[in-house]
Amino acid sequence: MLKTTPGFDRIGDENAFAVLARAEALSASGRDIINLGIGQPDFRTPDHIVEAAVKALRDGRHGYTAATGILPLREAVAADVHARTKADVSPDRVVIVPGGKVTMHMAILMFGEPGADILYPDPGFPIYRSMIDFTGARAVPVPIREENGFAFSAEETLDLITPETRLVILNSPANPTGGVTPRGEIEKLVEGLARFPDVAVLSDEIYGRMLYDGAEHVSLASFPEIADRLILLDGWSKTYAMTGWRLGYAVWPRRLADLARKFAVNSYSCVNAPAQYAGLAALTGPQACVADMVAEFDRRRRAIVPALNSLPGVTSVTPAGAFYAFPNVTGTGWKAKPLATALLEDAGVATVGGPDFGIFGEGYLRLSYANSLDNILAAIERIRGFLERRNG
Ligand code: PLP
Repeated sequence: MLKTTPGFDRIGDENAFAVLARAEALSASGRDIINLGIGQPDFRTPDHIVEAAVKALRDGRHGYTAATGILPLREAVAADVHARTKADVSPDRVVIVPGGKVTMHMAILMFGEPGADILYPDPGFPIYRSMIDFTGARAVPVPIREENGFAFSAEETLDLITPETRLVILNSPANPTGGVTPRGEIEKLVEGLARFPDVAVLSDEIYGRMLYDGAEHVSLASFPEIADRLILLDGWSKTYAMTGWRLGYAVWPRRLADLARKFAVNSYSCVNAPAQYAGLAALTGPQACVADMVAEFDRRRRAIVPALNSLPGVTSVTPAGAFYAFPNVTGTGWKAKPLATALLEDAGVATVGGPDFGIFGEGYLRLSYANSLDNILAAIERIRGFLERRNG
């Protein structure tokens, strides 16, 4: 009998990938499937970014790089973070990683162990919970509530901190809800954190540039009073339509940056070199591509939310960020997961059930509007047909 370590008995999963696999299998068998399941932009990576990677390969820049990433890229990240947050970031605190996910993996491994508490948003990105469980730490969900527009509550978060709390994970704009936490709440949280100087903060800001209706992204990096314990997670996947390139970054507190470097040396060595040159072109090149993508997402958001609200038993708040709608489906009489499964199998629409994002996700579905407007509207009509058929 092979015996693996207990962490592997506890590690979780990301069901959006299982939904993607099932949707692709159904498509391959000839079914017509509209995929609103997976969270990735449906746009091509802009040409000037692709060309920078091709040029790097042609120029022979395809060897190992520094474990933390090439210096020009770390400098570009530091400059970009400074421009957006006014934070004083030196490039030696920046660590380039193969996708934003790797930063959460590192941070949770650094602070999680049996006897420690880690707070995480629920509903939230499933890997937070999964990695906390892996370490044996106690996973403490911070409820993210529809009545707050899916913003997190500073008071509720602070109230859950115990002497055992080592790390608080925050995410705004948020997956799966599209919620954006307003400035007042973030300021209140930072103020309250002064009472807990030994608690680290992981702020996942990967959707920080995907905002609508004039919503403001308030980066935790803009508060110098927590700079010595803030891990800022960001990357290129969503902003520049680069999910498959596997490229992300973190800004670490000075005393943790070298641990992150060692983790890189002990696992993946460095991020693939051409992807890093692509990331450099993305940050230093024209930014109109980002604005264009966000404008297109906004057009779809304005269509999907009223369409969802027109469905029997479905209500949806208007998300102010990311590219997800998170409608409340309790009025349909269905539990969320069976509904998501039935919608895929019977109606040919892939969505993700709210419980895949945590216990507080029951009663909701996540629909990614990273699909064409025509497909989104067709998907809603399929859902309507399904609900009318099945609910009579
Ligand atoms: N953080 C959040 C909130 C996400 O939704 C995702 C991807 O879906 C990630 C991090 C991971 O991004 P990456 O693909 O760069 O690893």
